[in-house]
Amino acid sequence: MTVDVKQFFSTELLAWYRLVKRDLPWRKNRDPYRVWVSEIMLQQTRVDTVIPYYERFMAKFPTVRELAAAPEEEVLKSWEGLGYYSRARNLQAGAREVVERYGGIVPDDKTAVASLKGVGPYTSGAIMSIAFNRPEPAVDGNVMRVLSRYFCLEDDIAKPSTRVGIEKRAVSLIPEGAAGDFNQALMELGALVCTPKSPVCLTCPVMEHCAGRLAGKETELPVKTKAKPPREELRAAVIIAGSGEHAGKVLVRQRPAKGLLAQMWEFPHLLVDEHGEDAALADKLARSLHEETGLLIRPTGRLMDADHVFSHIHWKMKIYEADLGAAVTGAGSEKAWPAAGSASGRAAQTLYAAEASAAYEDSAAASSAAPSRAKLPAHYRWIGREEMEQLTFPNLFLRVLNQYWANSKR
Ligand code: SF4
Repeated sequence: MTVDVKQFFSTELLAWYRLVKRDLPWRKNRDPYRVWVSEIMLQQTRVDTVIPYYERFMAKFPTVRELAAAPEEEVLKSWEGLGYYSRARNLQAGAREVVERYGGIVPDDKTAVASLKGVGPYTSGAIMSIAFNRPEPAVDGNVMRVLSRYFCLEDDIAKPSTRVGIEKRAVSLIPEGAAGDFNQALMELGALVCTPKSPVCLTCPVMEHCAGRLAGKETELPVKTKAKPPREELRAAVIIAGSGEHAGKVLVRQRPAKGLLAQMWEFPHLLVDEHGEDAALADKLARSLHEETGLLIRPTGRLMDADHVFSHIHWKMKIYEADLGAAVTGAGSEKAWPAAGSASGRAAQTLYAAEASAAYEDSAAASSAAPSRAKLPAHYRWIGREEMEQLTFPNLFLRVLNQYWANSKR
C-alpha cells in the first residue's frame, strides 16, 4: 500500500499540535493585532525572551489605535532590550496605516496586510492564516528546515527560488479549514522537536515517513550557504562622569534621525582604525569630544570591552571612564594601559590621569572656556540613573551603563 506522505504529514502534525501546543500569551485569541505584534517580536528573538515584552507591550498598547497614537519614544522604550528596533518603528507605522486606511481594523485581505510597513511574506502569511484562517503559507527558517528534512530537499535554502518552492509545498500541505493551527504546528515542530542542531526524531510525530531521517541526513539538512560575516568596526567609547551641577550624572547623546539605531541614545564613541594603546585611544576620544562639545575630559581608566553584532556590522568596543576638568594634549598618549580591572592597570591609569591633568593645567591658562559649563550641542544631555528610564538605549549601551551604575553605586 502506498502511503500518501503529504497527507500523513498534515494529519499527524495537526493532531500532535492540538495535543501538545504551548500555552503562549499570543495564543489566547486570534485577534489579528495580537498575532501581528507577536510575529514581529518573534523575528530573530526567542519565545522565552519575547513573552514578558509581549505582555508589557499589549498592556500598554492593547489596540491598534493606541499603538498608532503613542509617541514613538514610548514605543521604542517598550522595545528596549529586544533589539532590531526598526521592527518597532515599522510596527507603529503599520498601525498608523491601519488606522488611516482601514478604520483601525486589520483587514482580512492578503494584499492589504502584505503591504503594511514591516510585514514581509512570512508575517503576512502568519497573520492571514492564524487570525483569519486563510490557507496562506508562513515560511520562515524553522519551516524551511522542517520541510527540507521531511521531504529530503537538498536545494540551498538561502536561494529565493528554494523559498518559493517550499512555500508552494507548504500551501499544498494545509488541511482544509485548519490553516492557522497547521502553520503554528509547523512552527512548533521546528521550535521543539526538529531543532537546528539536534532534532529529536524519536519523539517526532512524522518520523515514520520523514525522508531526511530515513536517508540519515537529518542533521545535514537543510543545505544553506553561509552568509558573509558582518564587517568589523573597532570603536572607542567613553562614559563621562559629570561634576558640579551634573554630579552623579553621565553624558549621553542621541543618534541621528536616520540610519543605524536611529534616534536612540548612547554614550559617546568613535570609529578607530585600530585598537592600539589605551592611552592613545583615550586621548583620541578626549580630543574628539572636545571638538564636538567643547568639553574637556580626563580619562581615568578602562571600564570594559563590549561587542555587539548587527546583521551587517560587528562593533568591537573598548570603553573608558572619564571625568571632567582636564584637556588631553598628548600627555600619556604613548603610555600602555594594562587590562581594565587589574591593580597595575589602575595605577597606570591614575598616573595617566595625573599627567593629563598636569597638561590641562598648562593649557587651561590658554583656554577661557570653563569645561563643565560648556554649552552642549542639542543632542547631548547629562542624565542620572533614573533618567535612563525615559530614554531608549540599544542593548549594548544599556548593558554597559547598568554595569557602570552598579559598579559605581552612584
Ligand atoms: S523525523 Fe527528525 S528530521 Fe524528520 S521532521 Fe521529525 S525531527 Fe525533523
